[in-house]
Amino acid sequence: MKYPVSIRRCHRDKITQIEQELKNLLQPLAVENDLQNVSSVVIKPNVCWGEDWRSGSTTSPLLVKGVVKWLRERGVDKITIAEGSMVGHDTLECFEKTGFLQLARELDLKVVDLNKDATVKINVQQPNVFNTIEVARTIADCEFLINMPVMKTHINTTVTLSIKNLKGVIPHQWKRKFHFMGLDGSIADLASIISSKLVIMDGIIGQQGQGPLTGTPANAGLLLAGRDQFDVDLIASRIMGFSPCEVRHLSLIAKARDVDLERYAPAIIGDQLSDLHIKFERPVYLLNGLYKGVEILWGDPCSGCAGALSVALERMEKSGELEVIRRNGGIVIALGKGIEPAKSDKLVLIGKCQYRNRDKGMFIPGCPPPGMIVREMLSKFAKGETKYGSDIFVKEAEELYEKEK
Ligand code: SF4
Repeated sequence: MKYPVSIRRCHRDKITQIEQELKNLLQPLAVENDLQNVSSVVIKPNVCWGEDWRSGSTTSPLLVKGVVKWLRERGVDKITIAEGSMVGHDTLECFEKTGFLQLARELDLKVVDLNKDATVKINVQQPNVFNTIEVARTIADCEFLINMPVMKTHINTTVTLSIKNLKGVIPHQWKRKFHFMGLDGSIADLASIISSKLVIMDGIIGQQGQGPLTGTPANAGLLLAGRDQFDVDLIASRIMGFSPCEVRHLSLIAKARDVDLERYAPAIIGDQLSDLHIKFERPVYLLNGLYKGVEILWGDPCSGCAGALSVALERMEKSGELEVIRRNGGIVIALGKGIEPAKSDKLVLIGKCQYRNRDKGMFIPGCPPPGMIVREMLSKFAKGETKYGSDIFVKEAEELYEKEK
């Protein structure tokens, strides 16, 4: 049976009325019928890092609280909150910082770090990239998955919605593999084996511009829900002002479903697109052109490295440190696996993926390196200290990388 995508307005000052808003949002989707035979539910929010939901980076714990209450009223007692934070971040620390551990204690919810969960290998029937993907057992075995993404832009994938939110269900080593092998194709493969039974998208405060980490809050004041993750993402993309055709993983899924993306229009219930008048700022791809004097060589890095660099450059611009770099003739920064930069005394290589090129410039290790380390080392570079052989951070990382070889 085909269900519509449900859309309701819900501004941040209405968050206290969230339970009523959720009832209105979910009523057209007839989820109650399915829940009659379900004893446990897994909720997968977006807690990719530890930023508060008002930044637009993470799912609101108040919204999740409303969903938990809605589920309990319908007889579902066993509820798990499950997430696997991005590479370089600890899921439980992110849960603590964003209020999810407190919520779990208050409502007696089980919490699972999907990065440390046992895994199951699942075959992909029509692969773009992977024939098999390793997925956290909690997700692979769950009775009913509720996917609760945030409505965000993404500097690599244009948007990050319910399908991209699934990347949290694979362990860190697989998150890196996704980036090595091509993010959009990998995400499309993952979406073909993990299907959310229900999507509840947090667009109360989304993120625009340089998402998913360092964009600006978008006060869209919206909730979206649906039974088909592809339909919800397609409608959300249009609301944000993007054609689904420019979101590569949606194009790949459309092709597999034999759907014409230009014409496909899932039914909508609630507020219609023509009434919403919302537009998200577009991400500036590759960061190139944003910071004068900084040339970036982009080798399809994870959002971990891209986010760390974006955070570092933004803060350096505000503090005046980038001005020093400009006065010294600028820098060239390479990150991600797919780039082979030329040797230069202006070259900075970021992340383990660029370890192989470490002799060509200044190397900043990590997978990803924390934004503060990137900033600290770029600042040293600005002062003319271009080699850091004695730096403990670099040395320890190099020893590890050599052992790994
Ligand atoms: S070094 Fe950066 S781009 Fe490479 S796998 Fe690690 S986080 Fe991703």
